[in-house]
Amino acid sequence: MSLKDRLEVWLGDITQLAVDAIVNAANTSLLGGGGVDGAIHRAAGPELLGECRTIGGCPTGEARLTKGYRLPARYVIHTVGPVYRGRPEDSRLLSGCYLNSLTVAMNHGIRTLAFPAISCGVYGYPIADASKIAVDVCATFMQTHDVPEKVIFTLFSAADFDIYTRYLSNRSG
Ligand code: ADP
Repeated sequence: MSLKDRLEVWLGDITQLAVDAIVNAANTSLLGGGGVDGAIHRAAGPELLGECRTIGGCPTGEARLTKGYRLPARYVIHTVGPVYRGRPEDSRLLSGCYLNSLTVAMNHGIRTLAFPAISCGVYGYPIADASKIAVDVCATFMQTHDVPEKVIFTLFSAADFDIYTRYLSNRSG
């Protein structure tokens, strides 16, 4: 399968995806929040919070694995994006979220993986910049790794979907 076929963009609710794992844009406590985090905890049920409590938090830029419980996805990879402040470390931390999530996925044989637009909600990361980081980090990783086989960028608005779609189709290779 070519790299182009391994990267997909999808408009919709990430909690509905029957993939091996979905990524959660969590906060450092891993104890739930609003946005996509709240939606994932609601759909997964209270057992997810129970498992998250045993983890003891997650530093910004890192990633942790749990089961998916009542979700159609088998696993959830929780990662913590940076709060956007326009500093150089924002992009480094956001890249870390993608790279560490991909590494966790690879280490657990996760073949299909869906990402939301990490940090692009309450955390304020500009979607155009964030989409480039998301696509570039995933493409670079997948060029040298067979697992995950497929990454699905899941966007929650048509405007965000268009930004990702345009960047992916104009990108060479
Ligand atoms: P952060 O705190 O990392 O910014 P948010 O949850 O506030 O996280 O937003 C991250 C992105 O997830 C935003 O683009 C938001 O529109 C999107 N989002 C919110 N709910 C869902 C959902 N159910 N499925 C997919 N994406 C979602």
